[in-house]
Amino acid sequence: MSGMQITGVTQHHVSYPLEESFEPTWIPDYAQHTHEAEVFEVETDAGITGVTASPSFAGGLEYETPLSLFLAGEDPHDIEGIMNKLASIDLVGPRPWHIELALWDIIGKDAGKPVYELLGGSDEPVPAYASTGQMLPADERLEYVEDRVDEGFEAVKLRITEPADLDIVREVRDAFPELTLMVDANKGWAVRVMDDEQRWSVKEAAAVAEELEAIGGVEWFEEPLPRHNYDGYARLREMTAVPIAGGEFNERAGELHQFLDRDAVDVLQPDAALVTGIKRALEVAGRAREDGVKFVPHTWTNAIGFAANLHVIAAIDGGWCEFPHDPPWTPEAWGAIVSEPFEVTDGLVQPRDRPGLGIELDRDVVGGE
Ligand SMILES: [Mg+2]
Repeated sequence: MSGMQITGVTQHHVSYPLEESFEPTWIPDYAQHTHEAEVFEVETDAGITGVTASPSFAGGLEYETPLSLFLAGEDPHDIEGIMNKLASIDLVGPRPWHIELALWDIIGKDAGKPVYELLGGSDEPVPAYASTGQMLPADERLEYVEDRVDEGFEAVKLRITEPADLDIVREVRDAFPELTLMVDANKGWAVRVMDDEQRWSVKEAAAVAEELEAIGGVEWFEEPLPRHNYDGYARLREMTAVPIAGGEFNERAGELHQFLDRDAVDVLQPDAALVTGIKRALEVAGRAREDGVKFVPHTWTNAIGFAANLHVIAAIDGGWCEFPHDPPWTPEAWGAIVSEPFEVTDGLVQPRDRPGLGIELDRDVVGGE
C-alpha cells in the first residue's frame, strides 16, 4: 500500500432542472422534472481527491457523516479492504458501490494514468448505442431514430412496456432495415412512486420474444422478467433465439453469478456504479467471457457512472456502450455534474486518456470548490 490516507468525504446534493418533463419507463406514471444526484468527493492527505456520484431521490439522501466514519484513515489503494467495509453500509443505508469508483479516481490520479490503463485496457473508441428511456408515439420515435442515424449511431435501444408497443419496434425496423435494435422491457425492477410496473409471466415474455424474432435484427431483449427470477430467465432463454439480457440492477457479484450458474442470459449488464464497483465488474466480466456470455454494462445514471462503466468496457474490450439520449435526458442533462459532457462521434465514444476517471466536476452545478 501507498501510505496515503483518506481524510474525509464531502457530499453535494444536485437537483438539476430538465428542460421539460421526462417520463422514464422505470418509474411508472411519474414525470421527472429534475436530474437528482448525490456527488461525493473523497479527500486524501496527498491532496488528491476522488469523485463519484449516485442517482438520488428528490430531497436527497444524506450519508456524508457515516461514509467519513467508514473511510477516514483508510488507504484508498486498498480496494478489497474498503469494499469489505462498504459491504456493510447497505444494512441500514443505500447501496455503496459507487464509492469504489472514487477510489479508482484517486488511484489513477496518483499514478497519472486513466483507470482503463491501470486495468489493462486501451483508449480504442467503443461503438455506442443510443438508449431511450421513454415511451413515445411511433411518429415521434421515428423522428428520434432518424436524428440518431444522422449523427452516426448504428444501434438504438427502444423501450416497450406492453405487447402493443411492439408496433413501434416494427415501424422503426421497417423504416431502418439495417439498424441494430435493442429492446428493453424494464420488467427487472421499477421505482414505484406512483404505480406498479406491469410484469410478464415467462409465457407472456416468450410471446413477445417470438414477435421480436419475426421483426429481426434484435441484438438483445432486455429485462423481460423480474431481476431475481433467474429460473424464469433460464426457461425463457430456452424458448427463444433472441438473445436475453439482464442484471443491470441486481446486487453484488453473487447475484450475477446466479444468472451465469443457470445459463440464464446471453448478455450480462451490471452497472459498476449500482451493482459491482469497477474491480468486481472486471471479475464478473472475466467469468462471463469464459461462459460465452457478453458483458455490456448498463450506464444510465450520470456522467461519472457513465465514465466508470466506459473504463470497464475499455478494460474488457467490450462490444457496446450504452449512451443515454432521450430528450430532455440529453448528454448535457445527465452530464451536468461534469465540466465536459460525453459525446458520440460517428457512432463511437472515446475513453478519456486522462488520469483517474478523467472527469472534472462542474462547480456551478455541484457546488463546493
Ligand atoms: Mg435496462
